[in-house]
Amino acid sequence: MSDKSRYPVLAKSIAERGRDYRRHLRMEALLTYGGKCTCCGEWRYEFLTIDHINNDGAEHRRKLANGRDRWKAKNIYVWLKENDYPEGFQVLCTNCNCAKAWHGYCPHTEESQLSQSQPQ
Ligand SMILES: [Zn+2]
Ligand SMILES: [Zn+2]
Repeated sequence: MSDKSRYPVLAKSIAERGRDYRRHLRMEALLTYGGKCTCCGEWRYEFLTIDHINNDGAEHRRKLANGRDRWKAKNIYVWLKENDYPEGFQVLCTNCNCAKAWHGYCPHTEESQLSQSQPQ
């Protein structure tokens, strides 16, 4: 009887444990940074992500990766926990995050500025 058949099960359980831990870290980070999108108030955690307030994500990723394989080298949520959830980050939903990344702003911001500037 070979042991080989047990390895996939073991590997799977390790992967799942890792995934659970990362999910836990992600939730912890999201809650620490406010638990909802800073821009639009989206609170469903599936949509939420951590954003670099100063748009220095690329630079930070380089640091995390130690000049190597982008920030996959180190999970952002692991890094945040290790660094005691430093300032300079905020929670954004993927919509707002992508809008900011692709266009440099989120349309929500313009909309809220417009509605604020309208006379009551
Ligand atoms: Zn949002
Ligand atoms: Zn937005």
